[in-house]
Amino acid sequence: MVAKSVTIDFEKDWGSRIDSNYAISHITDKILEIFDTHNAKGTFFISSEIIPKHNSFVKLISNSGHEIASHGHHHTFNYDEKSRGNLYEEMKTSKNLLEDLIQKPVIGFRTPAFKRNRYSDEILEELGFKYDSSTAKIKLKGRYKPMQYANSKVLKYIAISSIYNRYPAGIKWINLFGLKLTGGEPYIIYGHPFDFLSIKNVIRLYDRNKIPLHILLYYISRRGNILKTLTKCVDNSTTIESFLSQKGKE
Ligand SMILES: [Zn+2]
Repeated sequence: MVAKSVTIDFEKDWGSRIDSNYAISHITDKILEIFDTHNAKGTFFISSEIIPKHNSFVKLISNSGHEIASHGHHHTFNYDEKSRGNLYEEMKTSKNLLEDLIQKPVIGFRTPAFKRNRYSDEILEELGFKYDSSTAKIKLKGRYKPMQYANSKVLKYIAISSIYNRYPAGIKWINLFGLKLTGGEPYIIYGHPFDFLSIKNVIRLYDRNKIPLHILLYYISRRGNILKTLTKCVDNSTTIESFLSQKGKE
């Protein structure tokens, strides 16, 4: 069977995107239902700063058999520039808050905005993480870089796959160009709750005349019902954690 993992990043609002809190509240149940219908599991990278608002969703995801991993504490875009002390605090806070909530070890990390730091590896090792999923198998100007500072012999590096060797395997790209995963196994797909909002949800969020153009374009550039794209993606999906433990037994 193909090793594949659908990963979803839960994070707070950021610049060019829509209200993430709204998206988490409105779409998490639907995402979980799609996984359930296909008896599939996924890995959910959570920015722990959302816990006060969304702890029930994080618990629900974990109790449904999916893996909870860390997406840092704050979802800021400067993880590459953080001092060692500051980065350590972010990662430690996130791991502790998530583990306290779900009562299970958190072994995976994905840095916000693909920004790895020269200290990422040593801190991940110190805190007992087992893998890092912070880059893509493809370069895309301004966004995705080749893996930086990746020299650990302890950590596994789980990069996001590409489609047609051209685009990162984000749900929205797959929605546009099809599920043509490349770059070798394990195939890692990623998305966010806000990717799945319907255009009706988006209009409801804004005064009809005040939807920012880039947000409108983001949503109208999708093809059909993007939840159907997720349905295609989750087939055979498992958590990264279970993929790694299978691999360890081979
Ligand atoms: Zn993120």
